[in-house]
Amino acid sequence: MKPREKLARILKERVLLLDGAYGTEFMKVLDLGDMPPEVLNVEKPDIVEKLQKSYVKAGSDVLLTNTFGATPAKLAKLGLDGKFEDIVRQGVRIAKKASEGKAFIFGDVGPTGELPYPLGDKDFEFFYRNFKRHIEILVEEGVDGIILETFSDIMELKAAVFAARDVSQDVFLVAHLTFDENGRSLTGTDPLNFAAVMEDIDVDAIGINCTLGPEELLPIFQELSKYTSKFLTAEPNAGMPIVENGKTVVYSATPDEFAVHIDSYWESGVNIIGGCCGTSPKHIRKMRLQLGKRPPVKRSPKKIFLLSSPSHVVTLDRFVIIGERINPAGRKKLRKAMEKQEIEFVLKDGRKQKEAGANILDVNFGVEQLVSDEFMEKVVLSLSYNVAPLSLDVQTPEKLEKILKAYPGRPLVNSVRATDEDRGKMRLIRKYGGAVVLLSMEKDIPGSLEDRIKAFERGIEILQEEGIDPSRVVVDPLVLALGAGGNPKDTLGMISYLDKKGFKTIIGLSNVSFGMPDRSFLNASFLVMAVKSGLTSAIMNPLDDVVMKSLKSSLLLLKKEEIEKTQIGEENEIVKYLLSGNADEVLNLTEKMLKEMNTISVVERFLRPAMERIGDMYNKGEIFLPQLILASQAAKPTFELIEKKMEKSLIGKKGKVIIATVKGDIHDIGKNIVAAVLKSAGFEVIDLGKDVPSDAVVNAVKKEKPLLLALSAMMTTAASRIAEIIRLLRENGIDVPVLVGGASLNEKLAKELGADFYAKNAIQAVKILKDLEGER
Ligand code: ZN
Repeated sequence: MKPREKLARILKERVLLLDGAYGTEFMKVLDLGDMPPEVLNVEKPDIVEKLQKSYVKAGSDVLLTNTFGATPAKLAKLGLDGKFEDIVRQGVRIAKKASEGKAFIFGDVGPTGELPYPLGDKDFEFFYRNFKRHIEILVEEGVDGIILETFSDIMELKAAVFAARDVSQDVFLVAHLTFDENGRSLTGTDPLNFAAVMEDIDVDAIGINCTLGPEELLPIFQELSKYTSKFLTAEPNAGMPIVENGKTVVYSATPDEFAVHIDSYWESGVNIIGGCCGTSPKHIRKMRLQLGKRPPVKRSPKKIFLLSSPSHVVTLDRFVIIGERINPAGRKKLRKAMEKQEIEFVLKDGRKQKEAGANILDVNFGVEQLVSDEFMEKVVLSLSYNVAPLSLDVQTPEKLEKILKAYPGRPLVNSVRATDEDRGKMRLIRKYGGAVVLLSMEKDIPGSLEDRIKAFERGIEILQEEGIDPSRVVVDPLVLALGAGGNPKDTLGMISYLDKKGFKTIIGLSNVSFGMPDRSFLNASFLVMAVKSGLTSAIMNPLDDVVMKSLKSSLLLLKKEEIEKTQIGEENEIVKYLLSGNADEVLNLTEKMLKEMNTISVVERFLRPAMERIGDMYNKGEIFLPQLILASQAAKPTFELIEKKMEKSLIGKKGKVIIATVKGDIHDIGKNIVAAVLKSAGFEVIDLGKDVPSDAVVNAVKKEKPLLLALSAMMTTAASRIAEIIRLLRENGIDVPVLVGGASLNEKLAKELGADFYAKNAIQAVKILKDLEGER
């Protein structure tokens, strides 16, 4: 029997126990120095084997290989690319030896430490290639499963899932996202969105791990368990990190304190449970005793129809407006922009529609052969990370495949017909996920309502044959041009029929008036009738006021729920433009104001409050990382202008900051974000990079005399470097304030390490700097 089937069978009978932490355990027996824990697989395999043996003895049903950080890209950054294959191969062999057949072996795969475009500079292929190489070796060596852990971005996680499944259909596949205490991943995904994206694709289990202790993680886990039909896994940290002897970071929850939480997880439907950072064989032993051999609790997850981008979910519970304008048909300028790969032009088009009320954006590239694949991916990623969820209107199968797999969320695929020819497209949707628009037609345009119904029924049949559940389908009743003899009554009849059957519906509104005069009025009137018949969404022009006002009025008259607001209720124009990434408008407004008042007033009365407002929104969870990065980018040209204007008056005197990720840590996502946000707030930032030796940091401080030193440590194993740097600084008589941040840290821990400040995120760092500046 395939390991996947075997595990699925066992999991229906009982809850399985994973193992605990590796990195924090290795640190107890040796000084890893700057070596990543995975190197032990080749340098000191006996230490790895010994730990894994003690996990098996403690009662783990599943052992993870010591390969979490061994993606090729990550090892290459440490100059260890040559050892990649050995490290991974040995990782599996050691685990197998340690288990002596008493435990399943899951190959452990962590993220690459990079962010996708437009937040970072990596494309889908980068992630996919890395994971594929990593997983190929794990599978060759015979693991039973693959566990993708501690991922912080939904696109990177999808890339890893597709890579794993392309390598093997037979391994048990687990996919984890990591959440902060507000229940969002780094790039803004919530548990509902995560569950919906994973529901469509071929993973066996989904879950969460790291960052939080069992108590804080539970509500997020419970939210996830409401929506997923996959097996559920959880690996909390052993409470919060604290400092021991002034330098080593350990975790606060004792085995007893940790294991008591098992019951709550079990009640919420957990199928596989283990421990992340700070858990030891003792924790696992206690968990084993507490857990026993219980069967899992049965769940009945809710099915919710939704479309999503990383940080935005649109359900079809209320009327949904899908912006039609990103379509070069009849739009010469847009067509030229696409051929010339001018992404900003396309983005502006998307933003404008969203500002006018679009919930989703339809993306059509026109003559697709004229548009490069690379550009298509960039458009799709930029729009979905920064503007809105998408409806993908792409016809060439190869091109659809490219953007469908890279899509960071749950897209709408527009569209398929009830024909055998479209089975290829359906298979892509089956493999890569998403909701789908089914046209009520076979090969030819149907003549009557009966023909449409027949085509719809046939379409649902074919979709089911291809493994796509009707719950993923939105039906297009077909709108034919009135001028070409179309009968709108058939469309309305079809909408009523589908409404009664409980299907969501979508129309391409503007078709009805094609070739006619007074198109706005025809479109508006038809939309009103369609809404009355039960229509749930339309691809339409949100910039057409007549249509928009008619739609809103008809929803009001019919007492249907209002359209979901797509803009945050925001009065301040600059804030609005910053949030939509509209750098030009921010600059325009600033230039206008500069004509009326002096530069300092513009900064103090407008720009600074605008950046502060955005910081507040981020802190309150009203916006997420993609919007924060976008706003910082949009503010850049304006601050450059201000800087020039002021010569060296205010901004020039504004403090200098040195920022670095400490030695032994190659994670610089958080540090880069902080650097960018500080810059956009007008500070001078000297970025020393990542994996920076302590004495290099001290020397830079000596030379530059900054207002503040900001240090980042994401890994627990690297946190003690912070204490080292602070000790060196003080020994040298340098009293620069030190601010620290990173996933392994918290307020209390920062103080214990000797830091003056702790910042949970970039916005807090700005606040601290501003206070410091005030003191000067
Ligand atoms: Zn962890």
